[in-house]
Amino acid sequence: MDIIKGIKGVKDILPEETPRWRLIEDAARRWALCYGYQEIRIPIFELTALFARSIGATTDIVEKEMYTFPDRDGTSLTLRPEGTAGTVRAFIEHNRAADPLPQKHFYLGPMFRHERPQAGRLRQFHQFGAESFGTSDPRADIEVIALLWRLLSDLTLPGLTLEINSLGSSGDRAAYKPILLAFLKLQESHLCANCRRRMDTNPLRALDCKVPDCRVATESAPRLTDHLSPEARVHFDQVLAGLTAIGIPYRLNPRLVRGLDYYCLTSFEITSTHLGAQNAVGAGGRYDGLVEALGGPSVPAVGFAVGLERVSLMLPETSSSSNNECLYYVAAFGEKGTQLGLVLLDELRRIGLSAQCDYRATTLKAHLRQADRSACRYAILLGDDEATRGSIILRNLASKAQEELPLAGLSHLLKARTTSV
Ligand code: ATP
Ligand code: MG
Repeated sequence: MDIIKGIKGVKDILPEETPRWRLIEDAARRWALCYGYQEIRIPIFELTALFARSIGATTDIVEKEMYTFPDRDGTSLTLRPEGTAGTVRAFIEHNRAADPLPQKHFYLGPMFRHERPQAGRLRQFHQFGAESFGTSDPRADIEVIALLWRLLSDLTLPGLTLEINSLGSSGDRAAYKPILLAFLKLQESHLCANCRRRMDTNPLRALDCKVPDCRVATESAPRLTDHLSPEARVHFDQVLAGLTAIGIPYRLNPRLVRGLDYYCLTSFEITSTHLGAQNAVGAGGRYDGLVEALGGPSVPAVGFAVGLERVSLMLPETSSSSNNECLYYVAAFGEKGTQLGLVLLDELRRIGLSAQCDYRATTLKAHLRQADRSACRYAILLGDDEATRGSIILRNLASKAQEELPLAGLSHLLKARTTSV
């Protein structure tokens, strides 16, 4: 019979790998809570219109990466390609703006984009993201950047660089676009088809294009940061000064325009020299207009998202411990021993001592083989002889030292020993 395989670009995370994932997720939760962000769990799928309206029609995501399908009644639904749109929708729908602001949320979970799968680029991938609503103060920008930077540094990821830019206000961008467009028109013959096609609707994307010819052609393009309004300039300078004050190094990158349309002012990305082609670990920025664009009140916001597959690729091997940490292997055999072993196994687990047994083994020899393979610390030997004496033999699997202990009250005795070490 044909074997049904998983979908291209959609990976299983096997038991050997889950410890490193837990380590990353636990660190993300810990740092987010430490910075005052609360977890939000938004749905995996939403109305397509939400993403089309928030992410922007001329972005890669909306143009070609969304998993969109009709519901049974014909309504167009989409698997979430990112978490900001859903978080903002929930913020508006539950009227969170009426609560004392600012509100700060974080999320963790799978996202879906139809891309060409390769290392660090999947069709189902995972993001940790944070969104801070209600504060236009540059210190809120500094805070989200610091949260991301401290998390990645805590995970000891190598070769990190924080790149930062300002996209100005929407007015600044509107004034800059014709200036950039005029420059691009002169370079048109050197630009890739994608950039030429998007030039009139979204000329900024040409700055972000990875095609080498486009990069050369836009090398001397006019810079958005040279066309900032005084307010945007002050905001940017304060963000940079704040980062310096808290010791977070950055590199100015005037090309950093981000793929999503709703960003304004601060825009940032963290890259690593250890990731090869897919070198972006996380990215974010300010999106003051989005809540209003989605039908909510005028609420400023700033946030980021970080790709956990890429974090996992960079995480040093030694960081995560094994999944198979189990204390006791219960080697119960013989008629009476097997019966008593069933009860003992359950008692140990009930009081929180991890214990396992291979039910296929029926002899001491078979049990000991499995106990050695299991990475348990101790084996509890319980055959008919021990059952008759009302005792067990506790064997240290590393040193092979053995001692005989009474069966009655055993789990409590072991529990007391575990907590006293
Ligand atoms: P890229 O330029 O690598 O496509 P992006 O600009 O599309 O990134 P964002 O939408 O800003 O990425 O998402 C934030 C982070 O999510 C990225 O920096 C990356 O780490 C991760 N990410 C995005 N798309 C994928 C994917 N298909 N597979 C794995 N991780 C991804
Ligand atoms: Mg992308």
